[in-house]
Parts: sequence; structure tokens; C-alpha cells
Amino acid sequence: MAAATMAASGPILKGRSAIVTGSTSGIGLGIARSLAAAGANIMLNGFGDKAEIEKTRSSVGSEFNVKCIYSGADMSKGEQIADMVQTAERDLGSVDILVNNAGIQHVAPIEEFPLAKWDAIIAINLSAAFHSIRAAIPGMKKRKFGRIINVASAHGLVASPFKSAYVAAKHGIVGLTKVIALEGAEDGITSNAICPGYVWTPLVEKQIDDQAKSHGISREQVIRDVLLAPQAMKRFATSEEMGALAVFLSSDAAASLTGASIPVDGGWTAH
Ligand code: NAD
Repeated sequence: MAAATMAASGPILKGRSAIVTGSTSGIGLGIARSLAAAGANIMLNGFGDKAEIEKTRSSVGSEFNVKCIYSGADMSKGEQIADMVQTAERDLGSVDILVNNAGIQHVAPIEEFPLAKWDAIIAINLSAAFHSIRAAIPGMKKRKFGRIINVASAHGLVASPFKSAYVAAKHGIVGLTKVIALEGAEDGITSNAICPGYVWTPLVEKQIDDQAKSHGISREQVIRDVLLAPQAMKRFATSEEMGALAVFLSSDAAASLTGASIPVDGGWTAH
């Protein structure tokens, strides 16, 4: 049993290199740590306190004995995304695994939805994946191996009120995931989307007050009656659970799994 566990969690990604966008926090950091634990070299990306980021970078590298670098590229800027991919190719040797995870949220009825928020959500949650895939796929095609993992959402499969931009972007990324699965199919490249339900991260924490305002209810009611209401299991999923799935999708065992949008949502989309 112990040997089987070790085999499953051992360095199955040794020699691979991964970019994880938006990995200074939440799900992205969970995925980056899981990929590193499986032996992959990592490029972290995202915003935050410089000293904290440097601490994370050096601890991921030393804890898992992998190379870990950081890019501060802004995922709303196409040229910065292309530069980030080029830097990873140069400093890690390749980009074998690309995890498009960076994302933001805004909750408001459509008639009050700020125009700038619509633009930012579409840019960061959808267009960024187009730019990063566009830059990373030539190297993957050359090496005949690639794993593209888009962190979509249960909101890539179903809708909720007051999340027009987010739901539109997440449905868009589910479509993009399928297109890339077809384009990469003969070159050893898979493309899949992870569709989490609610995971307790700063992104969720920050929307509770807006949800309370939009629905006209308290914070406690938001957690019970809005966030966990559709999740049959009545629990938040964890970043580590998303990381474990990302490791599997990155592995050789998942070579035929492509074009899929996989719900990790406690039964939300089973309704
Ligand atoms: P988070 O707020 O904890 O982390 C978001 C990350 O994205 C951070 O590292 C942040 O710095 C980075 N980021 C934001 N804007 C950026 C930009 N312009 N350029 C570069 N980096 C940027 O959020 P999270 O909950 O971990 O969300 C991660 C992903 O998971 C998002 O795509 C989100 O839509 C998706 N998701 C989250 C949940 C959930 O319940 N938390 C559920 C479904 C899907």
C-alpha cells in the first residue's frame, strides 16, 4: 500500500516544466505546489507583496528540490504574457505544462456592471489563456508533448445571476479548451479544463460582501444559501484537490484525456 501510494505521488513529472498563472495565492499556488511535489520545475506568476512572493518562490524550490522561478507578467497584457512564456522556455528549458489559472471576479446585476470590470474579467479570465497558449504551443508541438490545463469553473458549465462577465469568460474558456484539444491532438498535446465549485480562497472571501449586497442578505446567508447551496456535499473544495487533478492531467497516464471539462464541484453540476 505504501509503495503504491509512493508510486502514485512520486516524482512522476520529473524533467517537466510548468507555468502556473496566478500562483501567488489560492488554487494556483495549490496547483504549483502539487506539480512541484510531483517533480516539475515551476514558473510562478501573479501579484502580491514582493517579499512574500520571494519567500514562496524559494520555499517551493527548496521544499520539493525543483527549479522555481517567478514572472510578474500582468495577465491582462498580451505582450507580457508572450514574454513570460519565452522567459520560461529560456530559463526552465521548456514549457511542457501550462496552467491558465489567474482570474478575478466581480458580482453585480448587469445593469450596474462596471464596464471596466467586464473588460478586465474577459482579459484576465479568458484572453490571457489565448495569449499564453498561442505562445507556448509551438514549443509543445516541436517536442510532441504538452499539457494545457485551464482552470475554468462550475460557472463554465452553468450560470448564476450577477456574474455576467465571469460566466461568459468561463464558458468561453471551456470552448477554447476544446479547440486546443483538436489542434494539439496529433502532436501529443492535451487540453482540459478543471471546473471547481467553491474553493475557500481570497477570490471567494472578497465576493461575499458584494453577494450580500446584490442578494440583500447577510454574509452568513451568502455562505449557506448562495455559495454552498448548489454544492450537494455542502463543503468547500480545497486547492490541494485541484492540485492533485492537475498532476494527473499532466501525467503520461492522462495521454488520451483531452477536450474535457472536469467538474470538481461537490455535485453542483450533477443537479
Ligand atoms: P485568488 O484570488 O486566490 O488568486 C488569483 C491569482 O490570480 C492570484 O495569484 C493573483 O495575483 C492572480 N492575478 C489576478 N489578476 C492577475 C493579473 N492581471 N495578472 C497576473 N496574475 C493575476 O483566486 P482563486 O480562487 O485561487 O482563483 C484561481 C482561479 O480559479 C480563477 O481563474 C478562478 O476563476 C477559478 N475558480 C475559483 C473558484 C473558487 O471558489 N475559489 C471556483 C471556481 C473557479
